[in-house]
Amino acid sequence: MAKYIFVTGGVTSSLGKGIIAASLGKLLLDRGLNVTIQKFDPYINVDPGTLNPYEHGECYVTDDGAETDLDLGHYERFLNISTSQANNVTTGKIYQTVISKERRGDYLGKTVQIVPHITNEIKRRFRLLEYKENYDIIITELGGTVGDIESLPYLEALRQLKRDLPKNDVLTIHLTLIPYLKTSQELKTKPTQHSVKELLHVGIQPDILACRTERHITDEIKEKLALFCNVRKQDVIEAIDAETIYDVPLLLQKEKLDDIVLEKLNIVNRKKATLAVWKEHLTNLKNPKHTVNIALVGKYIELMDSYKSIVESFIHAGANNETKVNVIPVKAEDLTKGFTEILENVSGILVAPGFGERGIEGKLNAVRFARENNIPFLGICLGMQIAIVEFARNVLNMENANSTEFDSKTPYPVIDLMQEQVNLINKGGTMRLGAYKCTLDKDSKTSEFYGTTEIEERHRHRYEFNNKYLEQFEAMGMKAAGKNPVSNLVEVMEYKDHPFFIGVQFHPEYKSRVVKPHPLFIAFIKAALNYNKINS
Ligand code: GLN
Repeated sequence: MAKYIFVTGGVTSSLGKGIIAASLGKLLLDRGLNVTIQKFDPYINVDPGTLNPYEHGECYVTDDGAETDLDLGHYERFLNISTSQANNVTTGKIYQTVISKERRGDYLGKTVQIVPHITNEIKRRFRLLEYKENYDIIITELGGTVGDIESLPYLEALRQLKRDLPKNDVLTIHLTLIPYLKTSQELKTKPTQHSVKELLHVGIQPDILACRTERHITDEIKEKLALFCNVRKQDVIEAIDAETIYDVPLLLQKEKLDDIVLEKLNIVNRKKATLAVWKEHLTNLKNPKHTVNIALVGKYIELMDSYKSIVESFIHAGANNETKVNVIPVKAEDLTKGFTEILENVSGILVAPGFGERGIEGKLNAVRFARENNIPFLGICLGMQIAIVEFARNVLNMENANSTEFDSKTPYPVIDLMQEQVNLINKGGTMRLGAYKCTLDKDSKTSEFYGTTEIEERHRHRYEFNNKYLEQFEAMGMKAAGKNPVSNLVEVMEYKDHPFFIGVQFHPEYKSRVVKPHPLFIAFIKAALNYNKINS
């Protein structure tokens, strides 16, 4: 039977519950335990797939095609695991299930209520992963902040679960903020006292307090928090602001969080988390020998969380190349005129995924600039589609070639809607989602980078390369380097007359890991370093 760790948040949002949960998971995993992490989000959207990236940042996609919160990306990157549909639950999903059961008559005439029907469904979902695999520990991050109206049913379900299961099987870590007041030069505990009171109010005594702070918390403060919040002093853990998110597992290990957790869960485990590869990554990250500037051309760059996995992939691949990667956010719309200046000092251009017409012209310009100036180029999803349109227009002379997403009447629909998509009405969960196999051409650069011809990558899109035009593209050097072995859809395009010009219909960024950086990103950074060498 699995044991449960819940992570709640107090005082404010954005304290980094996801990173704390992922770091603890990493420590436990390194001690030989089978761990997974799930996130429960209190919003009513069934999943974040329909959300504008400005709302919550990137929508992360799992192998089995779940569109999820970006924290799942942290879980996968930190723990090197694959999450699934069951790892991200929203209030929308909970209500959808309960309401369809009600419509089917499953409640046999009963009045359907938040307690017990909604809370029972939450509890069922809390434990869903337990029946899938033999996990020792399931960590659950509860989204939102204690005290929010939306969070109440989740906290009530947690209270019940604590009551349903044996004492040592469920524990709660409350992540809270200890603000530092400059004027009085003091760390303040009052907000934490209040947020713990909120928890006690709904019947939950936190077992561990993890205190986000910008200064070290003293023994005295620990004692005070322990007294007022009803925990042992040693269960008050400092979570100090870290230089990078990758420092957090080590900082928490120093605070003995993993030991305390195991003691409370009554798990005997004398192993120490060595974090060997992790530390190597950190050393490389902090001691770069080279620097490269990479332009990330996108539509949502005001909120870089919209590109979280891409930015993280660059960090992994940079460390792997002992290189500091400066990701320069470039707003696609700024590239419509006089753009050379913006792209002048970059050694690589990545055109990002996206939806809708805004910024398309600028992205086309970025692709052309990269292609004509031999600047390493990586186009992801929409980025690849734009590269195809640019090539059609400027090399194949197909005037007004386009994706039918932007011009349904284009004379050259080089990117077109997949047949399965034509008659779809519902927007939620209806894209081509999740992992698909792809066979790489053995003579392609891409297969050389991957070191294999059989790969599997994750997708999230409706439009595709139109195979009707493939011959014309290939005749001019733009080759299909990877295809879906079943549907024959083009998944990778490579331009031969260029040092590094690759477009991928899938999202490699979802599969980059701290201990296993993605081969395409590694190769892209290598190409950028090469570009620097040639042009310096
Ligand atoms: N808008 C494009 C499509 O739906 C690309 C999507 C993406 O970049 N994820 O096909």
